Amino acid sequence: MLSSQDFRKYAHQIADRMADYFEHIEQYSPKSQVSPQQILEALPMHAPEQPETMEAILQDFDTIIMQGITHWQHPSFFAYFPANNSYASVLAEMLTATLGAQCMVWDTSPAAAELEERMMQWIKQAMQLPQHWEGVIQDTASTATLCALLTAREQYSQYAINERGFENDKLTVYCSNQTHSSIEKAVKIAGIGKKQLRYIATDEQFAIRIDSLEEAIRKDLAEGYTPLVVVGNIGTTGSTAVDPIDAMGEICKKYHIFFHVDAAYAGSAALLPEKQSFFKGLEHADSYVFNPHKWLMTNFDCTAYFVKSKEALIRTFEILPEYLKTQHDQKVNNYRDWGIQLGRRFRALKLWFVWRSFGVEGLQKTLRTHLALAQTLYQRISTHSDFEILAPMHFNLVCFRYKPTNINNEETLNLLNAQLLERLNQSGKVYLSHTKLNGKYTLRVVVGQTNVNQTHIDQLWELLLHHKQVLSN
Ligand SMILES: *Cc1c(COP(=O)(O)O)cnc(C)c1O
Repeated sequence: MLSSQDFRKYAHQIADRMADYFEHIEQYSPKSQVSPQQILEALPMHAPEQPETMEAILQDFDTIIMQGITHWQHPSFFAYFPANNSYASVLAEMLTATLGAQCMVWDTSPAAAELEERMMQWIKQAMQLPQHWEGVIQDTASTATLCALLTAREQYSQYAINERGFENDKLTVYCSNQTHSSIEKAVKIAGIGKKQLRYIATDEQFAIRIDSLEEAIRKDLAEGYTPLVVVGNIGTTGSTAVDPIDAMGEICKKYHIFFHVDAAYAGSAALLPEKQSFFKGLEHADSYVFNPHKWLMTNFDCTAYFVKSKEALIRTFEILPEYLKTQHDQKVNNYRDWGIQLGRRFRALKLWFVWRSFGVEGLQKTLRTHLALAQTLYQRISTHSDFEILAPMHFNLVCFRYKPTNINNEETLNLLNAQLLERLNQSGKVYLSHTKLNGKYTLRVVVGQTNVNQTHIDQLWELLLHHKQVLSN
């Protein structure tokens, strides 16, 4: 076991390693190049019987673990959506780990509960979210969305399904065909059933078609279903498409349907007045989720979940066994009742560190830098005759493909772009991912790394030109 002196020594060493890592991160390939089982085979089959030295552990960390790390903080990580980070966030996590507090109720760390309450207020205010909402931190957007579906289910049944289970409830859920898979997962887990999930058609911008949505609702009503939830997107995963939130809200009001809005990635953009138009109509929502752990320099995990009715949320999740009763239950927020888990990490601390150390203006500046850099890439791709833009760019995700003028066969193009992606990622210099839009194999470049700058965009562009050239030969 380590002594307090050892701890001090290694803590200093590790702090230096952390700083070195961030400073020299570009020496690594953004995408780990190991093959399946490689790391597993390098690890001993059994736990050590005797204590090992920290030197030995750190040595193996360097030689075994680091090889199998994909460097999410690398400025040329353009894949998926980022999980970006910052010095302030990491410093806060060091303290969180040190305190090791389990923040299930107010009593188990009053500061954690009250800082969380205040952070959700800061976010709500700075992002111009409806002021009557109340927020809570969840681990991920998937969990928040499950909470939304369960709350809707209980509100509809007057909290009876929690008691008696399902009877003959024929509930349906609606979302666009571009919606994240976490909705499907939540529909399954909430007992609603995947067969009752209606994927609604989208328009040429990949936004939900309002007429199709209403048609589907009417059809289900006529067939004896109860439309339970409509999910709206602000920034779909495939192409950051934005659904018409205002119009969806009106429909939900008309048919008394619970309205959940998923802005997991693009929600950070609500900090920018020039992007507020995408959030119009949000006051109709019953619940709303976005991830500071994607594009707001807060290390994974940290999800902000807001609800119109905290009473409904709490009534859905509340439990009060004798051993959890405290004196202050009436006066404070006991967040164990605001979601699925009982035990909770102290996640508010990193938000506090990040928001104070950047300031709102600093956060805005970083987001605007990313948006501007994405524009420069979009410009190049859209004006080059061998590339084709495949979706409107509302934020900082460029969706495109290689399309030489002489090739028109869709299958060939799909194959060619899959090859291009493979080549780019194997270069060890960048990491991109893909999706399919209207059946077309689409390359995705998300410009959202904390420290990405023009040189990284220029390098990516050079690589694109180079590898498409190699492919055409
Ligand atoms: C990333 C993403 C999710 C899932 O986020 P987790 O926090 O990983 O659960 C959900 N919806 C959208 C639109 C996303 O982009």
